[in-house]
Amino acid sequence: MRSGVNSDTAWILAMNKRTFIKLFAAAMAIPAFSRVLAWAGGERLKNWAGNLEYSTDRLYTATSLEQVQDYVKKENKLKVLGTRHCFNNIADSKDRFLSLKAMDEVIAIDAATHTVTAEGGITYGQLCPYLDSKGFALHNLASLPHISVAGACSTATHGSGEKNGNLATAVSGLEMITASGEVVKLSREHDGETFRGAVVGLGALGVITKITLDIQPRFLMRQYVYENLPLSELKDHFDAIESSAYSVSLFTDWQKQRMNEVWLKSRVEEGQAFHATPEFFGAKLATRNLHPIAELSAENCTEQMGVPGPWYERLPHFRMGFTPSAGKELQSEYFVPRQHAVEAILAVERLREQVSPHLLITEIRAIAADPLWMSPCYEQPCVTIHFTWKQDWPAVSKLLPVIEKELAPFQARPHWGKLFTTSPAELKGIYKKMPEFVELSTKYDPQGKFRNEYLDRNVFGN
Ligand SMILES: Cc1cc2nc3c(=O)[nH]c(=O)nc-3n(C[C@H](O)[C@H](O)[C@H](O)COP(=O)(O)OP(=O)(O)OC[C@H]3O[C@@H](n4cnc5c(N)ncnc54)[C@H](O)[C@@H]3O)c2cc1C
Repeated sequence: MRSGVNSDTAWILAMNKRTFIKLFAAAMAIPAFSRVLAWAGGERLKNWAGNLEYSTDRLYTATSLEQVQDYVKKENKLKVLGTRHCFNNIADSKDRFLSLKAMDEVIAIDAATHTVTAEGGITYGQLCPYLDSKGFALHNLASLPHISVAGACSTATHGSGEKNGNLATAVSGLEMITASGEVVKLSREHDGETFRGAVVGLGALGVITKITLDIQPRFLMRQYVYENLPLSELKDHFDAIESSAYSVSLFTDWQKQRMNEVWLKSRVEEGQAFHATPEFFGAKLATRNLHPIAELSAENCTEQMGVPGPWYERLPHFRMGFTPSAGKELQSEYFVPRQHAVEAILAVERLREQVSPHLLITEIRAIAADPLWMSPCYEQPCVTIHFTWKQDWPAVSKLLPVIEKELAPFQARPHWGKLFTTSPAELKGIYKKMPEFVELSTKYDPQGKFRNEYLDRNVFGN
């Protein structure tokens, strides 16, 4: 089953090889046409973190629905590339990419149904200030606003807050181009199970050209950070800590039996506001803005210290216009059912001697249950244990199976867009709706036009 880097993890080896090639053969020839289209200024096309060099540079950029249809009809194999923030090869293609980067307009805000519809290439960084200027907000955001809405929802990207579903739970409608070039519209209201199967679509069903999201009246938030929360307090008061604010993030390096930082984001509203006291379960209120990795400058982080600000400048940890997180890094994340949160955290803590040398920081977040088939929170509230790693894939690839083994009793589900070594058989076991998802994908894409190595391996079992 899972024994480090074996034949089962062939895609990881493939990626490793590409990373190697990237580092030691930077002068490789690139066809002239793709050099113009590649986004990285003449370099080979890579993901955001630079740990993955994609398997082709051939990339179309669509500017209209008709163009998307033409490209889809013309190609036997095609992969939509969002903002390239996934750490694994979920977005990779050996054949041809399609970018909707130029299709980034807000189409309409419907105040009556409380929804916004935007084109498939829009990012949260573009959408959120616009929504706010019109008096509206989204329910939650990830740690960074730089990512595309369609890519984030397709991979069940999430923020934090035990009452907040992942970002895909805000989707109420989708327009997509299926493999035949047909326009298919799905809505939460009219398409029931099909819709719930399609939203976290892993890029397998078609090209999302429009996405409709639930909105609510704009709100203000405050963010407080506390330092050094003892692990014993976390163990005894986990539920109280998680329910203390709208969004709670715990950061730890697993050293010294403590959470290094606790980030509490609360809405500035009657009954919702968090009243900061000098101490929080033994942790001390920070006296300056902090980065989750305390040694790094907080310049790229959203405002803290209780300063009120718009929702979209407090829900993410990182500010638009700056490099988020650490930059040169890898990421992995596991979802465990909420009822096993403390046990799972303690299981990872026992691995601290192995984990810490390779870790930049861990983040622990809570997410509400949802009805979306391929969401890791399908019908169960979860806690996520996230790892931002130093960019040392050979070391991290050996460590992941160790962590996954410890978390296996809790049926831990890896984040679809981050690095994992969980076997396809295990994924099948923990995603009960996988067979229905395969059937739904096959309906919209019978020949596997949108499939790639990642989907073939992890979902379609080829
Ligand atoms: C610094 C950093 C911080 C992060 N923080 C978080 C976090 O807080 N929470 C979290 O859950 N994740 C987080 N992530 C992971 C990231 O948000 C997700 O992996 C997300 O998918 C990135 O979106 P993208 O557009 O960059 O996706 P890509 O990597 O470009 O694509 C992902 C998938 O979406 C598909 N796709 C993209 N656009 C479309 C479309 N229009 N139609 C059909 N399919 C499409 C692609 O084909 C691919 O399968 C973080 C990543 C980074 C680098």
